[in-house]
Amino acid sequence: MASSTAGLTELSRTTFIQTSVSRKRVCSLQTALHDSAAFLDCYCFLEFAINYLLHVDNEDRLLILTGLAHLEKHTCLRFVPRTIEKDFVLVQHGSPGSGYFSEVGRVGGRQILNLEPRLVDNSRFGTVVHEFIHAIGYFHEQSRTDRDDFVTINWDNILPDLEHNFDKYSADEVDPHGVPYDYGSIMHYPPRGFAIDPDVDTIIAPPGVTIGQRARMSERDIAKVNNMYNCSAKI
Ligand SMILES: [Zn+2]
Repeated sequence: MASSTAGLTELSRTTFIQTSVSRKRVCSLQTALHDSAAFLDCYCFLEFAINYLLHVDNEDRLLILTGLAHLEKHTCLRFVPRTIEKDFVLVQHGSPGSGYFSEVGRVGGRQILNLEPRLVDNSRFGTVVHEFIHAIGYFHEQSRTDRDDFVTINWDNILPDLEHNFDKYSADEVDPHGVPYDYGSIMHYPPRGFAIDPDVDTIIAPPGVTIGQRARMSERDIAKVNNMYNCSAKI
């Protein structure tokens, strides 16, 4: 089974760095239960209850729990404080400037979801949700196989050595779970991440289309997560 080294770093509200990407594929719970080979290479948490441990200041705890409540409200996922479980998400405060990042999907054992200290204010609610959606197995929306049909990558304005952040992946790696491309996804980059010229887009969307919102899960985000975890059969 291939090892996973996924890590996603988001350094500011408009700057995102994908440090590395696992090549393991994301699978649905349905696939995992009916295909033993896929089970061994499965990417998702196989239980609907995802265990977590918070190593953060008390003042940030409420915001994080509010983010988890948002996910629970709209999906069949349930987030449970870790006691002795082997696989769990450790939510930690990294050092200042360490960024916001999460491994993608279950990697086995302890996996890190990093938040910068003392920056988890209310405006970061969407960032918390975004990072937890990575943790449960979903990549960025603009990593989809079909993204060139919807946005244009302005390669000339991307900071050197950061072009990999705009890679796209096969449907096996970024499975949209039957949901159309979503400009309004909480998992979509904003228009000017990694820009050389901060006044020029790196991701060009059609006129009048907004990308990069971090307010809430979109309807299509909700559908993707529920499809990924086969929630319709469980709730
Ligand atoms: Zn991200």
